Amino acid sequence: MISRASEAPQSPSRIDLAELDLPEMEAALASLGEQAFHARQIYRWVYRRGVDDIAQMTDLSRPLRARLQEEFAVFTPRIRSDQRSTDGTRKLVLELADGRQIESVFIPDTPAMTFCVSTQVGCAMSCGFCLTGKMGLVRNLTAGEIAGQVRVLARATELLDKPFNIVLMGMGEPLHNYENTMKALRMLHQEHGLAVSPRRVTLSTVGIVPGLERLAEEPLMPNLAISLHATTEEQRTSLVPPNRKYSLESLLEACRRFPLKKRSRITFEYVLLDGVNDSPDDARRLAKLLAGMKAKVNLIPLNPAPGIEFERPSDERVERFAQILADRHMTVSVRKSRGRDIRAACGQLIVEGGTKKSAGQQMALLLRS
Ligand code: SAH
Repeated sequence: MISRASEAPQSPSRIDLAELDLPEMEAALASLGEQAFHARQIYRWVYRRGVDDIAQMTDLSRPLRARLQEEFAVFTPRIRSDQRSTDGTRKLVLELADGRQIESVFIPDTPAMTFCVSTQVGCAMSCGFCLTGKMGLVRNLTAGEIAGQVRVLARATELLDKPFNIVLMGMGEPLHNYENTMKALRMLHQEHGLAVSPRRVTLSTVGIVPGLERLAEEPLMPNLAISLHATTEEQRTSLVPPNRKYSLESLLEACRRFPLKKRSRITFEYVLLDGVNDSPDDARRLAKLLAGMKAKVNLIPLNPAPGIEFERPSDERVERFAQILADRHMTVSVRKSRGRDIRAACGQLIVEGGTKKSAGQQMALLLRS
């Protein structure tokens, strides 16, 4: 079949420059017979200046812009809603090219400015206390869609030229979408773009062990957070089903082997569920499991949501749990839940209305992918 791209400049067959890392963009330009260095100019426009209209990239000649517009476009997720919490947290619902929606969150002053981004539409991990887990997996996000959330957030919060942190703690399991997540981090790290240092990025995972082993070899190494949530195999399997395949024991073993920079530590996240995993015995077991590791513990009192069968423990129970860890010389923090009034807190991300699918439709999509 003959390609119709040149006859129809507006056709969706144009290549999306937002999906290309710098070497790929250079190759795409070279294949048109253009100079590779224009890729750096385009990166500057798209990432640093937040401009995605090729016509506005005024340091490229007019004829070049016209030619690029025939072959390329830059897709940016569209803001469908932008809710602000009383605490300054903002939740953006973003629409992707295929009409699917994801959520991304801006958390100010933690003390850094932090963007919480998604790596998948939905999630396949089905942790018992997480609303995203109830959606099932709809699809992986592309690298351009993951990095695109950061571009949109940086523009919306006017932080394009200021430092910010990125946490991969939105919807989805980053190590279940390994290639695209890592490519997005490379694109965000690009010095002609936003130049985000990997030290400012934290990847949070349920602990897919082969993914962790791959991550250990990466030249661009983000900080690591492990969603532990339980101290026995049995309890972890019931709360975090992937534990059936990647046991607590094998996960902790992989963490012990994980290469850490001199002063860095692994963060262990632990959701506190009232009367389930928040007893003094649980705390003592947790301290024992992590003894000798370069670890810090981040306790997350459950953010309740309709459809989630667990309860948030009282502040006294949270405090007692934290104290037992602190008494054993562990670094422990309690995550303040931000943006609960707009359902932007951990585990509360789900796309309501719009393109929401029934469980059956989601399953059908999952089977097709
Ligand atoms: N899939 C990744 C990133 C997801 S969310 C992971 O599991 O780490 C980031 C954190 O929020 C995880 O530790 C997750 O377990 C936690 N979380 C999920 N639902 C929650 C809820 N209802 N309340 C509090 N934390 C929750």
